[in-house]
Formats: sequence, C-alpha cells, structure tokens
Amino acid sequence: MKSLMERDAAFVAGTYKRFPVEIASGKGSLVYDTEGKEYIDMGSGIAVTSLGIADEGWVAAVTAQLSRVQHTSNLYYTEPCAQLAEALCARTGLKKVFFSNSGAEANECAIKVARKYAAERKGEEYYNIVTLENSFHGRTLTTLSATGQDHYHELFQPLTPGFLHTPANDADALIALCEQSKVAGILMECVQGEGGVNALTPDFVTRVAAYAKEKDIVLMFDEVQTGNGRTGKLYGYMHYGVSPDVVSTAKGLGGGLPLGATLLSEKVEGVLSFGDHGSTFGGNPVCCAGALHVLSRIDEALLCEVTEKSDYVFRTLRGAKGVRSVSGLGLMIGIETERPAGEVVADCIREGVLCLTAKNKVRLLPALNIPQDVLEKAVNVLLRVLAK
Ligand SMILES: *Cc1c(COP(=O)(O)O)cnc(C)c1O
Repeated sequence: MKSLMERDAAFVAGTYKRFPVEIASGKGSLVYDTEGKEYIDMGSGIAVTSLGIADEGWVAAVTAQLSRVQHTSNLYYTEPCAQLAEALCARTGLKKVFFSNSGAEANECAIKVARKYAAERKGEEYYNIVTLENSFHGRTLTTLSATGQDHYHELFQPLTPGFLHTPANDADALIALCEQSKVAGILMECVQGEGGVNALTPDFVTRVAAYAKEKDIVLMFDEVQTGNGRTGKLYGYMHYGVSPDVVSTAKGLGGGLPLGATLLSEKVEGVLSFGDHGSTFGGNPVCCAGALHVLSRIDEALLCEVTEKSDYVFRTLRGAKGVRSVSGLGLMIGIETERPAGEVVADCIREGVLCLTAKNKVRLLPALNIPQDVLEKAVNVLLRVLAK
C-alpha cells in the first residue's frame, strides 16, 4: 500500500507545501505521528487549537452539543449561538455578532458592513477599503484583494476593485491616501501575522483611530490571528486603547472547529438587515459550544500566563546565538534568524518541535495554556538549532 504522503500527493490538490509529518493524535501541546514519535506543538494548527489538542473541557462541551443537535441552519434558534454572541459582546462592549466559518468570511462580512454603512451615509462612491502593505486578510477573491502583498494577486486578476494599500506605521501616508480617495473603511491587523509577525506602533494605531472617528470611516481590526487571547489580551486592539467599529476573528475562537465571527459596534450594529448576508454553517451549534468553552477559559489568569510565557520567550531568545531579532506580542512570536528560517524549522522537526515560518522568520504560536516546562523544552531545542 502507498504511504499517506504518497496518497495525499496523488489525490489532494497541491496547494500546500506540507511538512513531512503525519499527525495521528495529540494531547495538550504534544502531538504524535503515525509511528509514535512525539513532537511539541509550537504552531497550534496556525493559532487555532488555543487550548491545545483534545482539551478535556473543550471535548466535553463539543461532544455534549454534538449528541444534542449538530446543525439546524440559521432558520432556527439555537442556544450556543445566542450564548456565544452574548459572551463576545459582554467581553468587548461590542453590540452584535455575525457568525461564519473562517477568517476570510469574517473579513468579507466586515467589508460588506463598511461598504453599506458608507453607501448609506456618504454615497455609493465611498466604497474604498484601505489596508496595509504586508497584510494578510484571506484567500477569497475579495480578501485577496484586501491583502497587501502582490505575490498573492498574480494570475488571479481581476480582483475585487476598491482596495488601497498603504505602509504600516506611517499615519501621514494613510491619512493622505484617505484624503484623496473616497474611503468606506480601514482594515488592519494589530500584529501582522503572515506578513512577518510585526506589531503596529501605538502612535500609528491611535492616530488612525482618531482620524477614522473624525471622518466617520469604519475602523476594522482583523483579529483572525491576534484574537482570542493570543497576544495576552482578549483581542489585540485592547493593547492600544482604541475602540474599533468592527472586529473580525476566527482561528483560535473555535479551539479547532471552524468558526468565524464579525463583531459590530453600536455605530454599525444595524447596518446589515434581513437578507443582506448569511451563511449555511455560520454559528453552527457544535462550533459555538466549543467556542463558548474556549472563551470561558480565557480569563485574566490565562491572559497573565500568556504574557509571562511571552516574556520568557522574548528574554531567552533575544540576543541568543543565531537570532537577529524577536518580534510580536504575547504568544505570537517571530524570530529573525541568521540561518534560513525554513532550515531552522526542518531541524526543529527532526528534534521533535513543530514551528512555523512567516516571511523570512520562524514563527511561534503555541497553545495559550502550554505548560511552562514543555515551552522551555521547545525553546531549548530552538536555541540549539539556531546556534548551529
Ligand atoms: C488566517 C488569517 C486569515 C484567513 O483566515 P481563514 O480562516 O484561512 O480564511 C485572515 N486574516 C488573518 C489576519 C489571518 O491570520
């Protein structure tokens, strides 16, 4: 019989350059391959399994809902959906939630809200959405268009029109662009994930937020990766003392099941009306039950833990042999390495540690509740590999 890798290569569309690891199972921050080799998971399925693999409380919440009813469609009411929306609003002060299944869809909803708000307030010609260079907002044609990295756009033209890109951390450039264009909204990640794990500066974020407020431009944060405790606050924007109009999130919210959410502030809560938007699977009760459990676990104690573990990683890796710089926020960490990042990651895999890359950096996105001793073990492997 052909191996798993061979069958996958034969039948799964070739869109992913997978690492040569066949994952069979896991528990917490440890995963096991089909031969029983143990790995420390420093990627969490790209910031998704926020409580680790097969967390008991999460599994219990999901399976309890699974045996009650697994799907109803959005034509009916279900308890987990309403409860999760209420919990998200209570924790953020935002007013309403639209549920979908992915980060890209959460952003699609945000973009539709900004466009409709501006069309009704200012006129339909106010359709432009400003995003940042090096951003990443998803793979649908519209969120690709929002993504400020040209290499994702090649050969998929024409993309959705009405997206303008401007450099991160240059408020003057962003304001100048907005002044010369008819802008509906501004969409940005507080820490650019795929773009290289770079946090926006507080000065930039506060100036952009003040400008957007003054001009009644819809301010949207893409918290698909930074959200749900990843940066040491529930949402990344909370580090900056600003009040977004729209927050989109996904990845870590479901803890491993597909769930996207677009949170709407008082200003835009009524923009979407019956028939304006929808999703067959969005707000699925099983995904929402899992997310409710995830959210209940992201309390002050866990957020403090995230910050402490982050401090430990920054302290240990900064200035270490083979490390040029360390960037990011919370447990979203980028390491600029002297060796090519891909080689470092390949060596780590051999030594039983799963890391990711982002641009030219090694990227770490461990589970929020990774035990300190497991984290130290992984960092020690990294130190050894980086120094080679
Ligand atoms: C991953 C990601 C997305 C896309 O999410 P999908 O669930 O893959 O559609 C969008 N924005 C950011 C910031 C992301 O990190």
